[in-house]
Amino acid sequence: MAGIDTLPPLREVIATHGLSAKKALGQNFLLDLNLTAKIARLAGDMSGCDVLEIGPGPGGLTRGLLAEGAHRVLAIEKDARCLPALSEIAAAYPGRLEVVNGDALEVDPLAHLTPPIRIAANLPYNVGTELLVRWLTPDAWPPFWDSLTLMFQKEVAERIVAAPGSKAYGRLALLAQWRAEAEIVLTLPPGAFTPPPKVSSAVVHLTALPEPRYPADPKVLERVVAMAFNQRRKMLRAALRGLAPDIQDRLEASGIKPTDRAETVSLEQFCALARNIAAV
Ligand code: SAM
Repeated sequence: MAGIDTLPPLREVIATHGLSAKKALGQNFLLDLNLTAKIARLAGDMSGCDVLEIGPGPGGLTRGLLAEGAHRVLAIEKDARCLPALSEIAAAYPGRLEVVNGDALEVDPLAHLTPPIRIAANLPYNVGTELLVRWLTPDAWPPFWDSLTLMFQKEVAERIVAAPGSKAYGRLALLAQWRAEAEIVLTLPPGAFTPPPKVSSAVVHLTALPEPRYPADPKVLERVVAMAFNQRRKMLRAALRGLAPDIQDRLEASGIKPTDRAETVSLEQFCALARNIAAV
């Protein structure tokens, strides 16, 4: 096998350290280092960047990121069994890999990293969406990260890049596309992973925009979008009735037909409605 570094192949690492995959931790490992190097390249030029990786596991993507030139990597891993394997990688790339044994939902990456920061991860499916929503809804914009290169179940990836009118369109698409450029850059079959998951996966690359595409108060926009899609089969004048007594007029003033359903409304229209509601 063509090596991207001088460390042992991942199958050997897994056998040496007894890293049998645990379903509860969403462990579906990538063992092909050429593939992990390819995913690392999809994150863009990392030479001047710190990189945050969630869930390095046995370290396939971590090795890809380091071999492809990431300046420094912070890898947050919940499963302590992976730490010896990750220490070997840290030793092979002196001063460039820091591993934190903890829950990515609780560790503050800014205590360890300096901007510019890129985030790259083959995310555990059980916390992937929650992490993405957090990264997309910080208190201030621009966020602490410049780009996100993230592996999700394909169905989640499709929800992130979905366009109005499609079944996958919803809160995730609007949150992602309001302040970032989002694109599916790679699709992988279950067989690319060990053990193979039930469904295909896809890598989404998101680049933070300096400013939102359309002005709106984030909290108001999030509330409007959440209400609209919580009852996505209802007409908007009914789904959003709780927002304002004269919601019908406000929808019309925002260029939205009150009888439309959420999934046909564009990002621009949702932002116009959020501005209208905020002006109450
Ligand atoms: N990056 C490795 C790869 O591509 O082969 C492993 C990816 S695997 C899909 C997800 C990894 O996230 C596992 O190593 C798992 O232990 C870890 N993990 C699960 N929940 C986590 C959490 N809350 N915080 C940090 N790591 C977590």
